Amino acid sequence: MFNLFTHPSTKILRQNEKQIHHIKTLSYSMEKWDDNTLKRQTPKLKNMLQNNRSMDHILPEAFATIQETCRRLFGIKLFDVQLLGGIILHQGNITEMKTGEGKTLTATLPAYLNSLDGKGVHVVTVNDYLAKRDAEWMGQIYNFLDLGTGLIQQNMAPDIRQINYKKDITYITNSELGFDYLRDNMAINKTDIVQQGFHFCIIDEVDSILIDEARTPLIISGPSDIPTNQYITSNTLAQQLINKKHYEIDEKAKNIILTDKGIIFCEEFLGIPNIYQLEQPWAQYILNALKAHQIFLKDRNYIVRNNEVVIVDEFTGRLMPGRRWSDGLHQAIEAKENVSIQQENQTLASITYQNFFLLYNKLAGMTGTAATESREFEKIYKTNVVSIPTNKRCIRADLPDLVYKKEYNKWVAIANECYDMYKLGRPTLIGTTNVEKSELLAKLLDEYQIPYNLLNAKPENVEKESQIIAQAGKSKTLTIATNMAGRGTDIILGGNAKQFSKLIIIQTIKDSFINKNEPELDYYKPSDLIKTYLKHMVKILQHQQIFDHMSPEQILMHTEKCITNYNHNNNITDSTPIYTAYTKILDIYQKDFTQDKDRVIKLGGLHVIGTERHESRRIDNQLRGRAGRQGDPGSSRFFLSLEDNLLRIFGGEKILNLMETLNIDDEIPIESAILNRSLNNAQKKVESYYYDIRKQLFEYDEVLNNQRQAIYAERNRILHSTYVRDCIIEYGERTIDEIINFYHNDKNKDDNNPTTNTIIHQKIQTILNLPHEIVNELFSNMNNREMKYFLYEQFRITYDLREAYLEQLRPGLIRQLEKYYLLQQIDTAWQEHLEKMSNLRESIGWRSYGQQDPLTEYKNEAFILFINMITYIRETVSYFIMRSRLVIDPDKTI
Ligand code: ADP
Repeated sequence: MFNLFTHPSTKILRQNEKQIHHIKTLSYSMEKWDDNTLKRQTPKLKNMLQNNRSMDHILPEAFATIQETCRRLFGIKLFDVQLLGGIILHQGNITEMKTGEGKTLTATLPAYLNSLDGKGVHVVTVNDYLAKRDAEWMGQIYNFLDLGTGLIQQNMAPDIRQINYKKDITYITNSELGFDYLRDNMAINKTDIVQQGFHFCIIDEVDSILIDEARTPLIISGPSDIPTNQYITSNTLAQQLINKKHYEIDEKAKNIILTDKGIIFCEEFLGIPNIYQLEQPWAQYILNALKAHQIFLKDRNYIVRNNEVVIVDEFTGRLMPGRRWSDGLHQAIEAKENVSIQQENQTLASITYQNFFLLYNKLAGMTGTAATESREFEKIYKTNVVSIPTNKRCIRADLPDLVYKKEYNKWVAIANECYDMYKLGRPTLIGTTNVEKSELLAKLLDEYQIPYNLLNAKPENVEKESQIIAQAGKSKTLTIATNMAGRGTDIILGGNAKQFSKLIIIQTIKDSFINKNEPELDYYKPSDLIKTYLKHMVKILQHQQIFDHMSPEQILMHTEKCITNYNHNNNITDSTPIYTAYTKILDIYQKDFTQDKDRVIKLGGLHVIGTERHESRRIDNQLRGRAGRQGDPGSSRFFLSLEDNLLRIFGGEKILNLMETLNIDDEIPIESAILNRSLNNAQKKVESYYYDIRKQLFEYDEVLNNQRQAIYAERNRILHSTYVRDCIIEYGERTIDEIINFYHNDKNKDDNNPTTNTIIHQKIQTILNLPHEIVNELFSNMNNREMKYFLYEQFRITYDLREAYLEQLRPGLIRQLEKYYLLQQIDTAWQEHLEKMSNLRESIGWRSYGQQDPLTEYKNEAFILFINMITYIRETVSYFIMRSRLVIDPDKTI
């Protein structure tokens, strides 16, 4: 085996050498223990923590316990690099571990250790399928060690979520986690809150979540009542505007600006004096309409389906039904496509992933590719990226890029390479950047009459995808996949016998008991013997009638359970017909696949073809990393053309000149060595461009985040308070203070200016509901202090009266009303504030041409808005508390 400690990957390994050795020695001694002794490790270690031992202190023993449990349950001995990965994760870092190194198991080490203090650990995955898979698979370890495993899935009811969040270790996706956080902070009853705090979190595929997805914030929205005709008018107007005369397009920034001529044209067209006026501003509508026509292309950025505009993720090629572009852009595209314009939604709550994950006391992550983004992880998330060496040396050959002049020739060359690989028998994975390109290649391969699997990365196909990906290592298999397709599933050379056997069983059961058809098994090409096993299984199941009263979901769950138990726990003695058929079929496939694996290895392993350089080297590396796992042979090659977006937009002069100078045939690729520097520069430019966008989003959201934290904290104080009266009295007193301070502030006090005084009189009168005479009296006869205490007293008296009255009407009601009322005021004010902040951001964008730093300006104005909101909340609460409405008809106030 490759020796970890002679690997050049530096100090960090040697620093941990002793620790790893210690873990291994401990786990070795545990091999002799019986199961019960091993299980007792959990209470023992918990006890040690309670007796002031630190987590670092018990780390070796906790890791050794997991090491031994893995060996017992799965027959797997964790590699040294996995133990190292576990230590680095526990320290709150990001580990870069290549595909196939066993990250899922690695995460159980720090998850177990950090769950021992009872505060809960979250393990975050990119999709529901992986969360479920990992929870079921890893749950066996935790279960063995008497810890509870939670799993949260989309569409789960709140009470079930609550139960799952209370478990020691919870598997969940990033979006469920974020949305639950936002929903919890909109809860009206304490009992509706599902989350339990943010202690330690391990994010799988951390780059995908913290980098790729960090560009769009999570938003919970509700309908608003903005009219739609402005979109239609702007759409008509946009079609009359002329590029370069009325507006200019910045393709890089996906932005459009109006020229002076354009602005005048629009104002004349609309018959208004200023398109930037604050009341009914038109500029944003017009710019969105222009973007809809000039930048967002049908069938590329979006598709139109069932009279709806559905976003295509530019990065993965996935359709994103239900997701909408924000700030009116989606509506502008709906107007362009002449489909019904859906109401603009009002943001009710939002947060970026950056700020959400920073809520955790400790944050850790793992991925195959992070090193290129380490600066960002350090700067934004304050986590270090540590590269963990591979268990076996990687022998993949990354071949030099081939660059064609024309995109067409590039695709022909790719198809030819696919053809050659197919003839050779080598499994090949072709990564494309979107569905359209996948289909283009598919068409070319159809012409060559060679078979392939096409993965189009639709969310509903995630499960199927990972199954196809699992077979992508068989000989003579071509798999075309958009980038993210099947991420999280290993490509095993020769094919994945376990997955394949599982699939054929599930398909048979689905067809026989859910669809009630003859099983459709062509894809699996089952031998007669396999068919016999399957038939036998169905017959016994029919006879046993166990599926008769199960829902389709339950049938599938049962099937999966029978199979997974076997997969991961060889000790189980399960005699269901499903299990029996599975083992027999697995046996056959395993023999077949092992032979195929040998053949594939001789041919050179998996070949990966990249069809374009991506917007970051990290994504290129992800694709390459599919080949050459765990010391397997493999190779990768990227095919590029000078017409690719990356080179066209970011390549700049150099590449253009080269195009002119090189007078070579279109079919002949240019040696990439010449282009390498320009290529890398182009890619770095895109990387830093996207980094800047994320950084900007982060910086702007940070301002909002501080405010969000303050509001959520206040909300929480009220929600958890048993005696809200105190909060209300506090609000009232603060309001009184503010009014009096305002009055006595020298700047505002002007005895000769009756208007200011009148305003203040009125304010006191209105907010505190005091008769005019008393207020007059107040101002003429009292000094500051006296006035303040008089008003405090008034507030209390009025409040006491109302309380007494309500108490006799319906005891206990006032406490409920108060709480509900306060929360409602805060929520409404916060939502309006969010809207104002978003407008502020837009308008700062327009104003940013001058010398001022837009962010500073934004911060200043945001602060003023926030203070105004807080004052407004206090005043409104005081106002309503002092009104009799609350007393006369309590029900109506809700
Ligand atoms: P990654 O996420 O790093 O690509 P996975 O966690 O999906 O990898 O694991 C890949 C495969 O390797 C799984 O089938 C797992 O059972 C197996 N595996 C993990 N660790 C070990 C080990 N120490 N020994 C043998 N197999 C292992």
